[in-house]
Amino acid sequence: MLHIDKLNVWYGSIHAVRDLSLSVEEGEVVTLIGSNGAGKTTTLNAICGVLPAKGSIRYGGNELNGVPTHRIVQGGIVMVPEGRRVFPKLTVTDNLLMGAYSRKASKAEREREMETVFGLFPRLAERKDQLAGTMSGGEQQMLAIGRALMAKPRLLILDEPSMGLAPIVVKDIFQTIRQIKRQGMTILLVEQNATMALSVADRGYVLEHGEIRFHGTAEELKEQGIVKKAYLGG
Ligand code: ATP
Repeated sequence: MLHIDKLNVWYGSIHAVRDLSLSVEEGEVVTLIGSNGAGKTTTLNAICGVLPAKGSIRYGGNELNGVPTHRIVQGGIVMVPEGRRVFPKLTVTDNLLMGAYSRKASKAEREREMETVFGLFPRLAERKDQLAGTMSGGEQQMLAIGRALMAKPRLLILDEPSMGLAPIVVKDIFQTIRQIKRQGMTILLVEQNATMALSVADRGYVLEHGEIRFHGTAEELKEQGIVKKAYLGG
């Protein structure tokens, strides 16, 4: 579904992503693991057309590099950004509706989609009239994922969903990611929390200083000495 070949991104003279190649096939959960500053967010921003990049980003057979972001979203790639970025002054319901905005869904479609999101996140249903800015970090992460699902993605990109959340909340979020996966969603998951990421992913890539160091199945990565030592606390 997504095939990236020799992606390079610079910030001025800083070469942040170097010859990065990765692929995500339909129905897979693929994780991109790396520590702070490895180039994970930069890679995602290049995929979404937010940053200029060199190299090829093919999606469903079409070249994405150079395509404007709104067209990429219309094509079904939807990202949940790092730090969640919900609209703090809008209610839960209105935040969710913003997710459906770009695909001009009918009222009936939007309502159906919202029921699906509430089914996945009962906590959001209980709080549908609450202002997003007054919710906990975990609830805001749920809302950000719910909002992305309202856009009916074909490829859902999650940028560090565990960031800043307590372990028990992280468990909840990953439980839901597992549920979304079971429904057949294709997911590219960026994480520093390798333990959680490898618990849900089919395959993974380890990024260090802008370069892919290893890739393999989740099982292979869990057994990989350097991954164990650097990312799994082993
Ligand atoms: P984190 O988990 O901390 O978000 P990351 O893996 O997502 O890290 P990036 O944010 O992609 O890392 O950053 C990759 C490199 O590019 C870092 O060295 C960072 O300092 C640099 N960088 C990121 N954004 C900019 C920018 N706007 N201008 C200059 N350098 C940048």
